[in-house]
Amino acid sequence: MQSTKPSVDSLFIQQSQLGRESFQAALYTSIDSLLAEWQTSRGPYSGILPGKLATHVESLFQIQPAGESIESVFQDIKNHLLPHLVDVSHPKCLAHLHCPPLIPALAAEVIVSSFNQSMDSFDQSGIASLVEEEILKWLCEKFSYGERADGTFTSGGTQSNYMGLLLARDAFCENTWQWNVQQKGLPSEANRMRILCSKNAHFTVKKSASQLGLGEQAVVLVETDEHHRMDLHDLQKKLMELKEQDLLPFAVVATCGTTDFGSIDPVRDIYDMVKPFGLWIHADAAYGGALVLSKTFRGKLDGIELADSITIDFHKQFYQPISCGAFLLKDKRHFGLIDYHADYLNPKEDELEGILHLVNKSVQTTRRFDALKLLLSLRMIGEEGFASIIDHTIHFAKDVTTLIEKNEHLEVINPDPEINAVVFRFMDDHQADDINKIIHRTLFQTGTAVVAKTVANGQTCLKFTLLNPRTTITHIEEILSDIVDIGIAHIQSGRVLR
Ligand SMILES: *Cc1c(COP(=O)(O)O)cnc(C)c1O
Repeated sequence: MQSTKPSVDSLFIQQSQLGRESFQAALYTSIDSLLAEWQTSRGPYSGILPGKLATHVESLFQIQPAGESIESVFQDIKNHLLPHLVDVSHPKCLAHLHCPPLIPALAAEVIVSSFNQSMDSFDQSGIASLVEEEILKWLCEKFSYGERADGTFTSGGTQSNYMGLLLARDAFCENTWQWNVQQKGLPSEANRMRILCSKNAHFTVKKSASQLGLGEQAVVLVETDEHHRMDLHDLQKKLMELKEQDLLPFAVVATCGTTDFGSIDPVRDIYDMVKPFGLWIHADAAYGGALVLSKTFRGKLDGIELADSITIDFHKQFYQPISCGAFLLKDKRHFGLIDYHADYLNPKEDELEGILHLVNKSVQTTRRFDALKLLLSLRMIGEEGFASIIDHTIHFAKDVTTLIEKNEHLEVINPDPEINAVVFRFMDDHQADDINKIIHRTLFQTGTAVVAKTVANGQTCLKFTLLNPRTTITHIEEILSDIVDIGIAHIQSGRVLR
């Protein structure tokens, strides 16, 4: 093995033969190591716990002063890193809204990273800016947004929710007090401003409120109905209470796909109720947004086109590698609320000439060309391909609930899943919470399956998030059988101890 002192020609992409060959060798070595890993019969996780991982981390951190050959580095990657990553593409990895990535998107990732375009200004991105704009236009059409709509790619749902509430806050201050928050900061009345969302809304609503200077106190939680959707009677009641207390509700977040149950708030009804009060409606469709591509299930998002802004996450049900998300805005003029011109990047004179600087619409500056991943995926599998995957997972979730219901040891919490998340638990009269926690941990530590644990109705539950279309009913039968075995074994060991 030849250890080379790296010449810069072999370290950076360039047109010489050495440059091209170095690029190819490095990427092929990386791909070969992945192929070898996926050839092993590994489960979704090695099961190793943080304490034991320390020695592997130590091996990975042997940084030689003069560097090393790629072969020797990848020996360590193969031995110490890859076996202990969570395999999100494994059919028994079904804990979170964490998808197996589409292969077409991975091919795009190589281009995205190699050309390393930055989406903030036109002179750092060229055609990439136009491609992103075109995909956003396509998305706005899919969501039946009108002529005035626009959007931006984001790092994910957290940033998109933040942007929705940021623009809602600033628009409210502008309209109510002709107060420019960007210039003057928050007005003194801001501590009376309130955001409504259901108690099953994502935690980033509260997090955004605190980061936006309104405090978590600004978030008023609305009760949910038996399907875990926002309860309209309680929404009305909360609105009236806020008015009576002289507080200022300015936004309502409708969740289209809650994290635990995938339930979808009735956006149209919410619109009818709150629009007379002038509230901004933000639809958090991070999870459910993908239903827009399904002919069968598009109707579940009824009324989403009435929302002032929408969060979509492509690194969930659009199967894109992290990170990839978008924020859509019904009236693009609201982007003006966060407009900022830097002389070196996006001077005003460029705007007058029609040169596109996407930084104007983003809370990020340097930003990845993630739009290409979605474009390549759409080109290669088509909208119908996406739709059939989404439809399959939704039908499959129903089959899974039927299977769980048949098991005398298990109980389904949401027998009619809105999307593809199934919440259930091992039943026991005395120590169900403890047993479900133990089941969750044992599955992970044995690398058998990665399932989620959550709390529903005050009880510890297990959850399958069935994003992976390669998960079969046999995989589920095996996991359920393991779950029941662990639960029963625990009860029996308890009896022995007592
Ligand atoms: C995942 C999720 C988010 C957060 O999105 P990130 O991409 O993780 O930042 C927000 N809201 C909902 C409903 C989600 O499912």
